[in-house]
Amino acid sequence: MDRCPACSTPAPRHRFCAGCEEDFTNQGPGCRFCGTPVGHAGQICGQCLQQGHPWDRLHFIHDFQGPWAALIRRLKYQGALTLTDPFAALLARQWRVDVQYQAVPMTVYQVVAMPMHRTRLLSRGFNQAGLLADSLARHLAIARRQPLYRTRETPPLEGLSRTERRRALDRAFASEAAGGHWLLVDDVFTTGASARQAARALRAAGADSVSLVMLARTPLSGDSHHSWLGQTWHGTRCAEDAPESPPHFASRSSDPRR
Ligand SMILES: [Zn+2]
Ligand SMILES: [Zn+2]
Repeated sequence: MDRCPACSTPAPRHRFCAGCEEDFTNQGPGCRFCGTPVGHAGQICGQCLQQGHPWDRLHFIHDFQGPWAALIRRLKYQGALTLTDPFAALLARQWRVDVQYQAVPMTVYQVVAMPMHRTRLLSRGFNQAGLLADSLARHLAIARRQPLYRTRETPPLEGLSRTERRRALDRAFASEAAGGHWLLVDDVFTTGASARQAARALRAAGADSVSLVMLARTPLSGDSHHSWLGQTWHGTRCAEDAPESPPHFASRSSDPRR
């Protein structure tokens, strides 16, 4: 036994404890493309019906809120790389659940990570999406490849308008030959601007399908699957030193990826 990285109670090695795994669960039906809460499974939200997306599905564990957001920040900004495996175990579980309940086509999938430009990689020292992708591929026992890359460094997207984001990301991704079906792994789905360009690059390189596999989705105000307000998190019941207290809400305008 080890300690749960979220709440410090005893847990299996490289996993969250059962109580945290229970709390970090995607609850309620969400739009197949963007995760926005909808009335029933399989429904597509009004915005996605109008917009259309180059990806086929969004799979995510939990909204970017509360202790879940705090854990993701620990990985990204504090380099808590030991979180990679517990995160990937939950991604694998989420994927299997979605395959079972959401009519995900059964075929051979490969794992690709949202790439980081080498300049940023040098300054940060690691690409959390790449580490998650490595671990997810091991958990699912499927191939891990990286045909997708960034052609240039892009500015932080935080605070940019939709048009500015599009301009900033224009031709920022390219891919070597990428036939087959892909699970594109990243940490947080916010506006989908990066995912859109990355999925387009994979498609242009021959991908048959691209499914986004993310730790979290950032809810617009009021469209959350969860509310940490008034909800007791397992960790706060058990932990002497929980990483951060809920709630921590993010807004769609602050893209935590950049
Ligand atoms: Zn725990
Ligand atoms: Zn949608």
